[in-house]
Amino acid sequence: MKNIIFIAPPAAGKGTISDYLTKDFNYEHISTGDLLREEIKSGSELGLEINKIISEGKLVSDELVISLVDNKLKKLDRPFILDGFPRTLKQAEALDKMLVSNNVTNNIAIYLNINLEEALKRVLGRIICPKCKRSYNLNNESLRPVKDNLCDDCGVELEKRSDDTEETFQIRFKEYIDNTSPILDYYKEKKMLKWIDANLPLEEIYKSIKEEAEND
Ligand code: AMP
Repeated sequence: MKNIIFIAPPAAGKGTISDYLTKDFNYEHISTGDLLREEIKSGSELGLEINKIISEGKLVSDELVISLVDNKLKKLDRPFILDGFPRTLKQAEALDKMLVSNNVTNNIAIYLNINLEEALKRVLGRIICPKCKRSYNLNNESLRPVKDNLCDDCGVELEKRSDDTEETFQIRFKEYIDNTSPILDYYKEKKMLKWIDANLPLEEIYKSIKEEAEND
């Protein structure tokens, strides 16, 4: 399988698709959002700073996320999914260097194209498992937990993300358009970009992504 770099606005489905790919193909799932939320949970000084930035819907510094990803890429022993990174051109350039220095080839960038209304609907219905990070959605029949508000896998109570409010979503979406859109041109020029319609039902999105990841 190819390594996958997901590029998508908030709540386009990259977390859920990553869960499926990880279960079906033993991918290593590297989510910078999850890594940052872990730091927040640890209660460290750095975690407090990160919490402030995330709850305002802004981006944390390039240096911090680059070093988080670098640590993960150094220890890789299987294909990986990058979920939420790169989000700026500087991160995309740093990623290129890290892939070269770690001898990682066979990479594709997948863009999940979603409109603002659909993304907002998904954000407002999203609840996640604090233990295994699995994502559920109350606004999507096929993504509801079996038992109300409990993770199907861990039995742990599901939580809403503190940044999944309508107000923060609007800021995150704008951040995305301003910072992340230029990355699309970057990967297009490198002929690495695959475009997926993420407004479609999840099963169809997943099928298209599997085909892209398996293709030679
Ligand atoms: P996510 O879980 O991918 O939606 O990320 C949640 C939040 O974490 C984002 O809104 C940002 O504040 C922060 N974040 C995650 N990944 C990055 C990144 N690559 N660069 C900067 N900030 C990030």
